[in-house]
Amino acid sequence: MAKYLFITGGVVSSLGKGITAASIGRLLINRGLSIRMLKMDPYLNVDPGTMSPYQHGEVYVTDDGAETDLDLGHYERYTGQPTSQKSNITAGSIYWDVLHKERRGDYLGGTIQMIPHISDEIKGRIRALEKENPDIIVVELGGTVGDIEGLIFLESLRQLALEVGRDNSIFIHLTYVPFIAAAKEVKTKPTQQSVAKLREIGIMPDVLVCRTEVDLDREHLDKLSLFCNVPKDCVIVEKDVETSIYEIPLMLQRAGLDEIVLNRFRIARPAVPLKDWEKLIQTIKNPAGTVRIGVVGKYSELQDAYKSIYEALYHGGYAAGYKVEAVKMAAEEIEGNPAVLDTVDGILIPGGFGVRGMEGKIRAAQYARENRIPFLGICLGLQCAVIEFARNVCGLAGADSTEFDEERGAKAEHPVVCLMEEQVDVREKGGTMRLGACPCSLVEGTKAYEAYGAKQISERHRHRYEVNNSYRAQLEEGGLVLSGINPDIGVVEMIELADHPWYVATQAHPELKSQPVKPHPLFKEFIAAAVKRHEG
Ligand code: GLN
Repeated sequence: MAKYLFITGGVVSSLGKGITAASIGRLLINRGLSIRMLKMDPYLNVDPGTMSPYQHGEVYVTDDGAETDLDLGHYERYTGQPTSQKSNITAGSIYWDVLHKERRGDYLGGTIQMIPHISDEIKGRIRALEKENPDIIVVELGGTVGDIEGLIFLESLRQLALEVGRDNSIFIHLTYVPFIAAAKEVKTKPTQQSVAKLREIGIMPDVLVCRTEVDLDREHLDKLSLFCNVPKDCVIVEKDVETSIYEIPLMLQRAGLDEIVLNRFRIARPAVPLKDWEKLIQTIKNPAGTVRIGVVGKYSELQDAYKSIYEALYHGGYAAGYKVEAVKMAAEEIEGNPAVLDTVDGILIPGGFGVRGMEGKIRAAQYARENRIPFLGICLGLQCAVIEFARNVCGLAGADSTEFDEERGAKAEHPVVCLMEEQVDVREKGGTMRLGACPCSLVEGTKAYEAYGAKQISERHRHRYEVNNSYRAQLEEGGLVLSGINPDIGVVEMIELADHPWYVATQAHPELKSQPVKPHPLFKEFIAAAVKRHEG
């Protein structure tokens, strides 16, 4: 039977619960255990697909096309294991299902209540993962203990622990232990109160992971143990890391967290050093130099909007032994002043929706092409590159995407990017949003083919618009290389320029599959080209 590891958060949000959960996942896999990971988000949206990046950060897309929380990105980056639709539960989706069942009459006239109906639904969703027969199911609860919205989820975890038995479940509480600079003191009170809140609903944490900016001495740890009723050796310190968030698995391993979990579950597995991660940290700590990559986006001021993009860029840097500095550049500012792009070694245009910043991005794509600056276009980034090429190389001055017809109040004169439904030859094949893993056939001899080292690849998608097949011939005549085509629906997946150091764009989101210990080939090659330019 699967064992359960529950992770809750205390005191404040933004403690890096997702990264801690992902790191624990890594350690368990390293012990030869099979795991599944699941994130529960107490908000009422059915999924984060429609939420603004200002509200939610990046929407992380799984192979099976689920639009999920960005913590799943951490899970995949740290564990190397794909997540799926089943790995993310929101309160909205739980209520949605329960209310649908109620309307269908499934509850046979019963009164629908938080307990047992909502709690049963939550437990059912979690336990569905048991069918995949993992050794351990890691469940992270979003938000902070004490949130009204999180209550029913905590209640469900309490019930679930009761069902599976104490020996088969472990509660890890990630908490914040602040250092008050004025008093020069570490304070344990917020943690005591947060644990008290947990106990109020019947959950006794087994392990405390204390996030802190300073070292905690024995006295603090003993105090936390005593007041929170957690054994001394189960009070673990997770101090802010100096160099990289990828140090955390190593830090938690040194603190013996995986040992605590295995002991609790009476699982005997030898400890294995995290060799590739140790090597990774050595690389991160001793870079040969720094390359600057300009990320030209609409939400560049937001830390989390392009989370996976930034991480994938760093990963590409690890492969080259370089530090990558992601320079956030607001697309709207590039339009009038593209020469700022001379200050970077590579240009990346990430995915996006809406017309704002479009002309700036198109200008950036042109600048990269004309000035031979390494370029990687992602999704909307590919569409910008195609529009730019059509306008400035193929002489189609009115080239644009039909996505912006409405916002611009005019139809694109040359709709080089449009909906699949607008393209006669593929009309019957497409839905609206292309979501999740899609196949792509690469053309031999192209940079894309070289990077992947394979003819058939698969990447995740999240977009509605496509390169218009009726302009393909004109684009190719102009010299654009269509390096990847979707074999099922015949649309363009990748483009590149032959006569350029490295100018590649993809309709997919390769950043979602990059791992620190296994950088994505496109990011690896892109950074390699940027390093080359940097070294001149
Ligand atoms: N807005 C574009 C589309 O829907 C691109 C989407 C994206 O970059 N993810 O096709």
